[in-house]
Amino acid sequence: MPDYIIATPDPVALPIVGTDALFPVRRVYCIGRNYAAHAIEMGHDPDREPPFFFQKNPDNLDPSGAFPYPPHSTDVHHEAEMYAALKSGGSDIAVGDALDHVYGYGLSLDMTRRDLQTEMKKMGRPWEIGKAFERSAPCGPVHPASAVGHLTQGSLTLTVNGETRQQGNLDQMIWKVPEMIAYLSRYFELAAGDVILTGTPAGVGPVDRGDVMVMRVAGLGSLTVRVT
Ligand code: MN
Repeated sequence: MPDYIIATPDPVALPIVGTDALFPVRRVYCIGRNYAAHAIEMGHDPDREPPFFFQKNPDNLDPSGAFPYPPHSTDVHHEAEMYAALKSGGSDIAVGDALDHVYGYGLSLDMTRRDLQTEMKKMGRPWEIGKAFERSAPCGPVHPASAVGHLTQGSLTLTVNGETRQQGNLDQMIWKVPEMIAYLSRYFELAAGDVILTGTPAGVGPVDRGDVMVMRVAGLGSLTVRVT
């Protein structure tokens, strides 16, 4: 063991359905505006834009089931997204080979300080302050693809206090999971442990302390997160 000069950070890992073993997280990539109706609600033309990505920090992933309302915002939005977790990676991965790198899938929330993100967009500045804050990605366990297959369609919904807010289908993704992996791998070296949030359908909106969010994706069960 090397002698570290300060305490080493805790490793970030997600539970896996069906085993006590954990999925170690290396990086977190998130795609923007990947469902046409959401792109339109954010004021963009879904047809004419290539994909773009931003990153969250690995330790922003939080399987605890609680989401502490973050400071410096009065407009924190839910974005319900399926994630893909990679078991291997590389550069310049072909679309046809991309799914060979996927270990499994799960449910996540790309929680967003929308007011701060909007301010950063206006100034042409990076989005981290709106996107990559503490515990900004509540998530569920990884479902191995060996058990659930590779999901290309199926409903994705989010309720807040029992009221349906987001409703979409995985088949509405503009860029499919294999295309996202191929595209990202042209610009970054992907590797085992990388997690990709695949975008949110229309219906994003604010939450308040005390709200209970329930996300469901057909084939991946549900994720319940309370805003505290
Ligand atoms: Mn998102």
